[in-house]
Amino acid sequence: MTVGGHIPFLSLQQEHVETGVQDDIDTALLRVSRSGRYLLGPELEAFEAEYAAYCENSHCVAVGSGLDALTLTLRAMGIREGDEVIVPSHTCIASWLAVSAAGARPVPVEPQSGGFLLDPERLQAGITRRTRAIMPVHLYGHPVDLDAVEAVAADHGLPVIEDAAQAHGARYREKRIGARYAAAFSFYPSKNLGALSDGGAVVTSDAELAHRIRLLRNYASPETCTRGMQGVNSRLDELQAAVLRAKLPHLDRWNARRREIALRYHQGLSDIPAVQTPTAEGWAEPVWHQYVIRSAQRDRLRNALAAAGVETLVHYPVAVHRMGVYKARSCQCVLPLAEGLAAEVLSLPIGPHVNDDTIDAVMRAVRKAAEEL
Ligand SMILES: *Cc1c(COP(=O)(O)O)cnc(C)c1O
Repeated sequence: MTVGGHIPFLSLQQEHVETGVQDDIDTALLRVSRSGRYLLGPELEAFEAEYAAYCENSHCVAVGSGLDALTLTLRAMGIREGDEVIVPSHTCIASWLAVSAAGARPVPVEPQSGGFLLDPERLQAGITRRTRAIMPVHLYGHPVDLDAVEAVAADHGLPVIEDAAQAHGARYREKRIGARYAAAFSFYPSKNLGALSDGGAVVTSDAELAHRIRLLRNYASPETCTRGMQGVNSRLDELQAAVLRAKLPHLDRWNARRREIALRYHQGLSDIPAVQTPTAEGWAEPVWHQYVIRSAQRDRLRNALAAAGVETLVHYPVAVHRMGVYKARSCQCVLPLAEGLAAEVLSLPIGPHVNDDTIDAVMRAVRKAAEEL
């Protein structure tokens, strides 16, 4: 697990070997390599059916990345220039980039105070007559309160598009994320369900929407082009579809292990005054894509952990509205909660293959570093 006392934040190679899936991945790759079919073939079709079923929904369209899954869904919903889409201020920049790529303007809403996720109570304030959609992000694998989002969306007749790039398998009130609205997933290698390259998918119950995304991902047909639908090249290839099919049957087990680790961290760290551990609502079944603590002295804590051989990451160090392109363009806005999170969040190592000894070693290092802050 650890090499010379060093605990890596992530090791996909170890993950694949230690969770016992490496041989299945290799077999899948060889099968496709020898099949002569590399795009839009039987592996893609089978994966789409299997992933839709996993998400308890009827349609899945797999594309080239999570960003494309979001962008093409927004475009297929008819979002375009001059429109506004509500997004959380604390998220991965890709959530915002998708809105921009569709030609629309991201309008940020602050997180719940003390939490990480978009605050449904603040949605109303972001809505204008140009608002065309609401995009909750199930950040770190924690479901957003979708009933509360729905209350506002229904009031204004707005569609909801979920950024589920970190939430494969999570549940909101017993139902899978992806079962309810159009949800966009990423299969970036480090996600809870990851390919060996880029990949993404949209899951929806809306057959018309799925059809339009299917056209868009493959240039769009001549007929739809003349109707003004400009397609792209964004197809999940057969190799990646086959790898994802090999991994999908293990996902629930892997997510269960992530939950065990989160519980262990919680029990071992929540009494330390200098750090705040994350909590989950009773109606949420998170999948702990990241285990994110907060500390007012995050950078010092992070440096001390690095010196002790524990690698950590920050998701995300700069609030999106403060990043170059958006700082210049959109908001002069002040979003103190998102900016506060950017300064305080720290992601600890987590993964389906990580054993208790490693988690305990991380916790000892956090306790020691926190005491010496
Ligand atoms: C990873 C991620 C994306 C983008 O997915 P890619 O496959 O990298 O394009 C979008 N939103 C969130 C919240 C993500 O974590």
